[in-house]
Amino acid sequence: MIESQIESQNFIGGEWAPADSGETSEIINPSKPSEVLGTTPSSSADEVSRAVEAAAGALPEWKSMLPSGRGAIMMKAADIIEEKTDELASLMARETGKPMGESLMEVARAAAIFRFYGSEGWRLDGTIPPSTRPGIQISSVREPLGVVALITPWNFPLAIPSWKMAPALICGNTIVIKPASNAALNAASLMQVLSEAGLPEGVVNMVTGSGGAVGDPLVTDPRVKGVSFTGSTSVGLGIQERAVGKKVQLEMGGKNPYVVMEDADLTDAAQKVAFSAFGYAGQKCTATSRAVVVESVYDEFIEELKSATEATKFGDVFDDDTAAGPVVNKSQYNDILAAIETAKKDGRVIVDGGATGLEEDGYFISPVIVADVDNASETAQEEIFGPVLAVIKARDFDHAVEIANDTRYGLTAGIATRSLRYTQEFSERSEVGIVNVNTPTAGVEFHVPFGGVKESGVGPKEQGTAGLDFYSTWKTVAIRAV
Ligand code: NAP
Repeated sequence: MIESQIESQNFIGGEWAPADSGETSEIINPSKPSEVLGTTPSSSADEVSRAVEAAAGALPEWKSMLPSGRGAIMMKAADIIEEKTDELASLMARETGKPMGESLMEVARAAAIFRFYGSEGWRLDGTIPPSTRPGIQISSVREPLGVVALITPWNFPLAIPSWKMAPALICGNTIVIKPASNAALNAASLMQVLSEAGLPEGVVNMVTGSGGAVGDPLVTDPRVKGVSFTGSTSVGLGIQERAVGKKVQLEMGGKNPYVVMEDADLTDAAQKVAFSAFGYAGQKCTATSRAVVVESVYDEFIEELKSATEATKFGDVFDDDTAAGPVVNKSQYNDILAAIETAKKDGRVIVDGGATGLEEDGYFISPVIVADVDNASETAQEEIFGPVLAVIKARDFDHAVEIANDTRYGLTAGIATRSLRYTQEFSERSEVGIVNVNTPTAGVEFHVPFGGVKESGVGPKEQGTAGLDFYSTWKTVAIRAV
């Protein structure tokens, strides 16, 4: 277990250091807001500049190391993550309010990600196609970008930093990460792991502080060649504007639909929708927030959905069967409660949840379901990032697909059906990066490409071997022996 208070610091050039100003911000346990878990430095442009300098200084040696050597360090990091599983998961549950069961799975996933990309050290691909010119050998190889900036959200506090760092490292880049202020202790624990694994000084650097004070100077620093961001669409699109001349990868918000067809197993479909909408209190980019149901099974599905929601357990993040704890902080809590007021005007209330009235005992919000929602309404169009589900009626399959696609977002979409035709057509016509057939929208696998389209995703996909594409650039070499 962690100590009750952690005084975290920045990690620059292999050393832990406070902000020059000495200023810190407190990290609060959202399950129990009176409990301060620790503090993290409130840094500024000066610390960012030093971190970029450290990363630039470490670059020549790191990129010239054999990829298998880089991979060996990453494998070691995976081992250490596994050795620290209970400590890391417990910190995650306390810092972000993620249920312990899910936190344990996230720690395992972080280890698997380091192992997956570590093993790419033996495999990093290139091509040697036949040249069109006689006597010439032509080949293309991957090269690192250089110093990359990673900006991460709080909701997957180990997995997202890992799935950005690991492909960046195996490709030979050096890193400055600015973690979410709400997950800075988790990020610091990952720095500790990498340091214990023997990562050379300066290869990974972390600077904590607000988006404006730390994120802005980081994305505009001319020494930074690539920016990989995960977070809200508004912040992401702002970063894209400011990161002039850099390679940019943005993974952003979602308003993910789940279509329920007349031939579906409605009990199973309701369980998948409730799990995806309310697990982790709806705070996943892949959460289902719109159930689009054809009219012939609309009322029946709503009854199933009510039962599935009632069976979902909310409360203490350390109970084994808890699916959702609190939302992450007071500001999210207030925003979600305001969105619930709007939702109750935008639809017929089916499950009347909301604030538990015990804010001092944690930022808990119970699920809210509203039906008969117009897809043009605010509730159906704006990401709430909380346990709120809109149910929307569709005439038939074509109408359901039209509604599902009628959003500026395009991360993931699900369908409940037994029909091969619906399955095929839905997969082809869905304007998203991920399609789920009879499986939850929430929950993805680390070894396949992940990411959205439209305003959910910009640039190359993350995860799987596709995750290498952002962190490398192709160099083509033509050789003629004389
Ligand atoms: P957020 O408010 O956009 O913050 C994300 C990160 O950006 C944080 O580190 C934040 O720092 C930083 N930031 C804020 N303003 C910035 C600026 N001006 N310049 C540079 N960086 C800045 O998002 P969040 O609340 O942490 O996470 C929830 C959002 O993430 C949701 O919209 C969710 O859908 C999305 N998400 C998407 C994916 C995906 O793969 N598509 C995965 C997970 C989450 P501070 O923490 O200091 O504000």
